[in-house]
Amino acid sequence: MISAVKGMNDLFGRRAMRWGRMEEDIRRIVENANFTEFRTPILEEIALFKRGVGETTDVVQKEMYDFLDKKGRHVAMRPEGTASVVRAFIEHGIAMNEPMPFKLYYIGPFFRYERPQKGRYRQFHQLGIEIFGDETPQMDAEMIFTACRVLEHFKIDYEVHINSIGCKECRPAYREKLVEYFSSKKEHLCEDCQKRIDTNPLRLLDCKTCNPKAKYHDIPVMTDNLCGSCDTHFKQLKDALEIFHVNGIIDPFIVRGLDYYTRTAFEIVANTGGSQNAVAGGGRYDNLVSDIGGPDTPATGFAMGLERLFDLISEDFYTEPLISAGYALCDEAVDDLVHFAKHMSHHPVRFFADYKPKKFKKALQKADKAGAEFMFIIGEDEAKDKKILMKNLNTGEQKLFGQHEVILIVNELLNYESGKFSATKV
Ligand code: ATP
Ligand code: MG
Repeated sequence: MISAVKGMNDLFGRRAMRWGRMEEDIRRIVENANFTEFRTPILEEIALFKRGVGETTDVVQKEMYDFLDKKGRHVAMRPEGTASVVRAFIEHGIAMNEPMPFKLYYIGPFFRYERPQKGRYRQFHQLGIEIFGDETPQMDAEMIFTACRVLEHFKIDYEVHINSIGCKECRPAYREKLVEYFSSKKEHLCEDCQKRIDTNPLRLLDCKTCNPKAKYHDIPVMTDNLCGSCDTHFKQLKDALEIFHVNGIIDPFIVRGLDYYTRTAFEIVANTGGSQNAVAGGGRYDNLVSDIGGPDTPATGFAMGLERLFDLISEDFYTEPLISAGYALCDEAVDDLVHFAKHMSHHPVRFFADYKPKKFKKALQKADKAGAEFMFIIGEDEAKDKKILMKNLNTGEQKLFGQHEVILIVNELLNYESGKFSATKV
């Protein structure tokens, strides 16, 4: 038997319906804040991620889904969205052609070769937003606020952790302090962190294996080592977040997995106690566009894991749609049912027809199994009189309509549906 590739999921039925609704809601929220959709390919040259995400990151070193194509080009399935968007931003001269700030969002699949577990897959989905051409701390605050807006919409309980990781001016000196601090503790660190001292010492701060931040309480922190302008930027960020009513907890151990961040870094965790509880993360990356060969362009953004978001949304957040089903009880009724199905298709109700004639009892069982709350029956008598019988399966109530009275029928269904939902909402 052939099964799905490890770490990759199928989605269907009720879950697919809820997932679709979730995406629609997200699009509406971010589009209202004037973000427009930006789509880039799944495959990129691997060189883009090496430069754009960083050679020393776990994503590039361990998690890439990469291969040689038929012409020997080294390509990779995108592990994140920012590098691709920056590539496209430069390639299409967006800095010259569009008004700044340029606000975009993306929703789609991403690929990382990780050990699959709950909340961690090899194909997963992200919502991301990016804002180019604006260096203000207020825009960082709006960016973080947008992530919060999404979580609030879905009534999720969360915490925002914020930090500043400085800039090209102040981070090198801080990095030296960290190297010095951890060099004497090398033997107490995990294998990865021993390497990180040389390659990416900031990543020691959020290592989940040897967890240095839990062991040592005098680790130097970036927020004590910011240069004047980064310090002002961080203060103004905190002020703006307060105005947005975002209650950010200052957390000097938020460093982000990707190399390109400057100044603002943040993460949002859900208050669920689970281990894969980081639902979104991001920050400012003022040097990435120029590092990849584009014009000097400040930028800020976040990515949110949609599988993790989906798992946090309560079961009763989306009400089930009202479903109705139509059945023919004899051969003579089949064409009438086809007509009826055609007319019903023009209306905003969820209706399906089952054209294979069957006994009333069998039709009832099938409707019930499909979760229908209303069924429509055309039997011998109804076919003769051009009638259709509507049965409310919850109450047993029946009504006879003319087969052409589709508008009346649809009104009945819509009234019933709105009554049902307003009753459950209060
Ligand atoms: P983590 O520390 O959990 O590995 P990360 O720092 O690698 O996260 P980012 O690169 O910032 O994550 O991606 C943003 C969000 O995407 C994460 O907060 C998480 O919700 C989600 N995410 C990342 N990797 C995966 C994955 N393999 N499966 C499902 N969701 C993921
Ligand atoms: Mg990761």
